[in-house]
Amino acid sequence: MKYCNIHKELGIDEETFNFGEEIRKSLEKRFEEIDDMAELNQLKVLNALQKNNVSEACLLGTTGYGYNDIGRETLEKVYADIFHTEDALVRPQITCGTHALALALMSNLRPGDELLSPVGRPYDTLTSVIGIDEEGDGAHKSGSLREYGVVYRQVDLLADGSFDFEGIRNAVSEKTHMVTIQRSRGYSSRPTLSPKKIGELIEFLRSIKNDLVIMVDNCYGEFVCEDEPTDCGADLCVGSLIKNPGGGLCPCGGYLVGKKEYIENAAYRLTSPGLGKEVGASLTTLPSFYQGLFLAPTVTASALKTSVFAAAMYEGLKFRGAAGNEECFVVRPDSREDRFDIIQAIELKSPEKLCAFCEGVQAASPVDSFVKPEPWDMPGYKEPVIMAAGAFVSGSSIELSADGPLREPYTVYFQGGLTFPHGAFGMLKTVQYLKERGLVSFS
Ligand SMILES: *Cc1c(COP(=O)(O)O)cnc(C)c1O
Repeated sequence: MKYCNIHKELGIDEETFNFGEEIRKSLEKRFEEIDDMAELNQLKVLNALQKNNVSEACLLGTTGYGYNDIGRETLEKVYADIFHTEDALVRPQITCGTHALALALMSNLRPGDELLSPVGRPYDTLTSVIGIDEEGDGAHKSGSLREYGVVYRQVDLLADGSFDFEGIRNAVSEKTHMVTIQRSRGYSSRPTLSPKKIGELIEFLRSIKNDLVIMVDNCYGEFVCEDEPTDCGADLCVGSLIKNPGGGLCPCGGYLVGKKEYIENAAYRLTSPGLGKEVGASLTTLPSFYQGLFLAPTVTASALKTSVFAAAMYEGLKFRGAAGNEECFVVRPDSREDRFDIIQAIELKSPEKLCAFCEGVQAASPVDSFVKPEPWDMPGYKEPVIMAAGAFVSGSSIELSADGPLREPYTVYFQGGLTFPHGAFGMLKTVQYLKERGLVSFS
């Protein structure tokens, strides 16, 4: 593509544009692989929709109790087919990913049980669910797992990112009932785990104790690979519908897929014992749940391409370090590595660069593009956090979005991009902002 008036009008100069174009050309083969994966997953989704005879009636929705909601029941069968599980719970009443994970844990653990994380500390919001930082008995009335008498054990990954098999063996006891495995790196520097890698860990765990209930936090991982964690031995797999599987269209919701017994427990917890999956009006959400799922493989591919494009661009930029010498950015994953989620992390090394990046993403957004993001004191964080999000669905992170805490090494975590042309433009905009402020140069 050539530099056009529209690029100029949107504030991208010719030098920045050409820098991006060169990089795009170098990524053709990589993008082809991503498109192939999208095609495979598109067919997987289509097959599940057809096999379950999705009909026009499935899109209508129910009110009140929501008994005999054919759209809801069929959608759950479609999810179960895609993930190759016995059952699924896919609901607008599940408010977010944290809620979906909390449901899975709180409904399948009982007082006295132990929960193990063999991959280190889980995602920030789960620490409150588990009660990780709570101190002393009875000091808290938060309703955490800890307050209900569930003991939490954690084994960190080794320094090289591999599993601490010895430590895991020692951490599994008679009482260990559930295991939680987070696929994505979240806001940490550890590597994201592939479904295959998760499968190896699950095999090892079952060799120690074969009746463990193994749950995977699949947030940001759906449709990135051919296999999902449930294809690799997970009993339960959980995620958010304002991330990958919602395809950008779901206005809210979460999903759980897995063994019938564990899904039933979760449904009893979500609604009520005895009622379970039988109630829960779908209201007007079904068209977006179905259509979003249908679009999810290609939307996920757009987000993946955006991340790879950004990694390659930032690998090609130079900045002046604290000592005055020219430095390169550290990007995780790098532009050549295999990817198992859509998140990209870039160490920007200064608050100015972190803010410029987020301002660039915000300025590229379809909604609220005129807003300037500012760092703020977010609950649960020690340092101020800056966030960029101009999304159609509030807080949606399958849409182009970025954030980072203002602390060393000033890492920005970003994800999304409903279409690659938009994601690519957003990344060009970040480079343009950094360049205009004299914070980077082209090497
Ligand atoms: C997004 C995410 C969650 C859940 O977050 P919500 O904001 O509650 O949807 C949990 N784990 C990981 C790894 C995530 O990326």
